[in-house]
Amino acid sequence: MTAPVTTPAKPLTALLGTTPQELTEVVTQLGEPGFRAKQLIEWTYAKRATTIEAMSSLSKPMRQALTERYVARSMVIVDVTGSADTTRKYLLKLHDGRYVETVLIPANPALYGGKSDRRTLCVSSQVGCAYDCKFCASGLAGFTRNLTAAEIVEQIVQVEAHAGERVDNLVFMGMGEPLANYSNLIKAIEILNAEWGIGIGARHMTVSTSGLAPQIMKLADFPLQIRLAISLHGASDEVRSKIMPVNEKHNLAELFDALQYWRSKSKQHITLEYILIEGVNDMLDQARMLAKRARAVHAKVNLIPYNTVDGLPWTRPSEAQQDAFRDVLVAAGVTATLRREKGHDIAAACGQLRLKQETAEGIIESPIPQKRITIGAGGAA
Ligand code: SAH
Repeated sequence: MTAPVTTPAKPLTALLGTTPQELTEVVTQLGEPGFRAKQLIEWTYAKRATTIEAMSSLSKPMRQALTERYVARSMVIVDVTGSADTTRKYLLKLHDGRYVETVLIPANPALYGGKSDRRTLCVSSQVGCAYDCKFCASGLAGFTRNLTAAEIVEQIVQVEAHAGERVDNLVFMGMGEPLANYSNLIKAIEILNAEWGIGIGARHMTVSTSGLAPQIMKLADFPLQIRLAISLHGASDEVRSKIMPVNEKHNLAELFDALQYWRSKSKQHITLEYILIEGVNDMLDQARMLAKRARAVHAKVNLIPYNTVDGLPWTRPSEAQQDAFRDVLVAAGVTATLRREKGHDIAAACGQLRLKQETAEGIIESPIPQKRITIGAGGAA
């Protein structure tokens, strides 16, 4: 049996997920003068006050009234693991006792010679995931709930405060399927992008999806110029359906129609993510089909050697096979990158740390009965 999760009777609303318009309504409801709204917005976003008490220009009674219904922060960092190239993985505890992971990745890890100048944050959009991709740790224990817009925004705010530096790029490639949490995702993106909010350019945000075609079309109509990545992982329906059940619902023809629609809206370039799993999707005929598909939508391809997940049977192909796969794409005129950096391991294995924590606390039963999930001290799974 799974233990009950403690949920406060009525969770307090987090200010970080609230728009200026909503904050203005809050101020009006409290019977406070209009200029207080501007102050509250500033304390929330520009000054990033961590408690309502710290919003010192607001009157004491106003702060008191606010604390009855709102919180400045709704999650806490409970663990930080880092690997040699300074990729850091944060485990965050949510108000209801659940956990999500957020991973900070330097673009030029020192390990590879360059100085780290740009930071990418990989954020989660849900607790667990309903899509059941066969290779992924995030969905192993099923789906628990959507994150609120506030919980999405707060991941960035918490990590920036902890790391003492700004995040340059955001990728929605953590736990969960962002397009299955559409309205909260869009609200979060608007707050993250806004001048009054977190101020990250839309072109620096990438939404990654397992291929929810109808929502991709909806996103194409969304005015901000965000980037789109598709977790493809199979270039034929036969191969893709074996490892991604979502393909039974939205097959490759439907998915690529949606991508053509995305292109017709003059959006940013599409990236096709392709994990290489030995004997499953690394055959060179898949590479040839992938090249055709990439060219049809002018997408670039990101090849990622599979990261082993304890309890799952998959392994990565040999380096020679990885190279051969990439060479087929390049020869066909497709821009393809093959990433072997260790630091990305802990990002791609996102979901394992949370599984370990929730299993240890008895919130969920271990989805891997025979084997304990092990996370090394260095954080790499
Ligand atoms: N649900 C969205 C967002 C999650 S992104 C999506 O599917 O795109 C997480 C990325 O990591 C996806 O591309 C996923 O396919 C990949 N991934 C999951 N498990 C992995 C593993 N063990 N090794 C490498 N990549 C993995």
